[in-house]
Amino acid sequence: MPVDALYRDDFYLSTAEAEVTTIHEDGGIELNRTCFYATSGGQPGDTGFLERADGTKIALAQTKHGATKDIIIHVPLEGEPQPLVGEKLTLHVDWPRRYRLMRMHTACHLLSVVCPYPITGAAVGEEESRVDFDMSETIDRHEVTAKLMELVGQNHPVYVQWITDEELSANPGIVKSKNVRPPIGLGRVSLVCIGADSSVDSQPCGGTHVSETQEVGAIHIAKIEKKGKENRRFRIRFGAPGAEA
Ligand SMILES: [Zn+2]
Repeated sequence: MPVDALYRDDFYLSTAEAEVTTIHEDGGIELNRTCFYATSGGQPGDTGFLERADGTKIALAQTKHGATKDIIIHVPLEGEPQPLVGEKLTLHVDWPRRYRLMRMHTACHLLSVVCPYPITGAAVGEEESRVDFDMSETIDRHEVTAKLMELVGQNHPVYVQWITDEELSANPGIVKSKNVRPPIGLGRVSLVCIGADSSVDSQPCGGTHVSETQEVGAIHIAKIEKKGKENRRFRIRFGAPGAEA
């Protein structure tokens, strides 16, 4: 039975009830449903804890996919109690961490609007995110920060539209990433849209995002590094611009 990945339809769901379906030899836990995001598309998986009926907590080190995206494995920290198959648990995502990741992830989308170049890699982090672009131009990071903050301040709605794998294959132009595969294989693909009628952007993405750009808050480009002749690595950090190089 594929897991019911509740976060795909509700990015703001931080708690849910679920039942244990499988315990792996290494202690990994599969559930019938989950609000824990599993590592993919450059966004790290959720941490948090699973609560047993008696109130005992099972703290999680990470959440990851199994052999396919239909499998989500909750990996407990070492020494945590092991639940039984069929046991009912209450799930608690580490929400402050996840919310920062959602803000950062959305910021990466905004950066791809400000810098409309093919993306060759991306990694979302709690403190810093990086996006690599296939570009040879030199850009002033303060200018990029100003444009990012303009998009944040305009408070555009951010929402998901579902399209079929076939619709995506018929419109390859909407994929901005060069090396990162769009989230296909589930029969439907989530298109993350920014602005009314996608006026700002739309991009296939299976991650979690905030619902309006103002939630991103203050961000800035801390660094733009030259990684080869045609590759620029942008580092996004929270807060107002600091003294970084
Ligand atoms: Zn995304």
